[in-house]
Amino acid sequence: MHNYIQIAIDGPGSAGKSTLAKGAAAKLAETIDCVYVDTGALYRAVGLYMTRRGIDCADAPAVEKALPDVSVTLRHGVGGQIVLLCGEDVTGLIRTPEISSAASKVSAVPAVRAFLLDTQRSIADSVSVVMDGRDIGTVILPDADVKVFLTATAEQRAKRRYKELIEKGQTVDYETVYSDLVARDRADETRAAAPLRAAEDAIPFDNSEIGIEEGIDWLIDRVKERCPEKLAALKREDA
Ligand code: C5P
Repeated sequence: MHNYIQIAIDGPGSAGKSTLAKGAAAKLAETIDCVYVDTGALYRAVGLYMTRRGIDCADAPAVEKALPDVSVTLRHGVGGQIVLLCGEDVTGLIRTPEISSAASKVSAVPAVRAFLLDTQRSIADSVSVVMDGRDIGTVILPDADVKVFLTATAEQRAKRRYKELIEKGQTVDYETVYSDLVARDRADETRAAAPLRAAEDAIPFDNSEIGIEEGIDWLIDRVKERCPEKLAALKREDA
């Protein structure tokens, strides 16, 4: 039994996990201490490390060999999550198509998953979390209070990712974004180590037609339903 509230959001790339998780964490943070944890950023940081050193991210033994030199830490401040790679703030550097692909490759290496497991669990041991990723409900937080498996069509997800990248000023074309996303999902679903799949007790949630606020309210209602005692016990005095 864990003391804090744990909410696990899993699903394929660009299904809207971070928007839902971030929004729900912000709403919960009005009354309890709660942070949003984007676990994909950890894999991205490892991918960036390997790429910078010219290590082939698909070469599992080479990636594993370099791992002891890697340190990845997440910080949670007012502006959201900050990712530190060996002490350097790489938050803005890990959101490129090149690093998406590197993250996908290193995430299939079992040693990388084992390496990042403690980082993720230790955050959830110290504060309530809304954590998003691919294996949160199945591996990282198997006893999470609420588990959601978020889906949306490949077209809708690719459109969302394309818009995000364009807004960041990157030069990309829609067809490449679509095929990269589908390839990454396939790799996530078929890898041997912690493949992307819904936990048996996850609530499936189709994000295609639902508005952001509606989705967040729906999730908060599930939390109220599943853990009213914890919500009351964790309520801050100033809330
Ligand atoms: O969520 P995001 O697109 O940032 O994740 C980048 C990659 O990291 C994913 O394609 C996936 O391969 C990997 N990942 C994972 N397990 C997680 C989070 C991300 O394998 N919990």
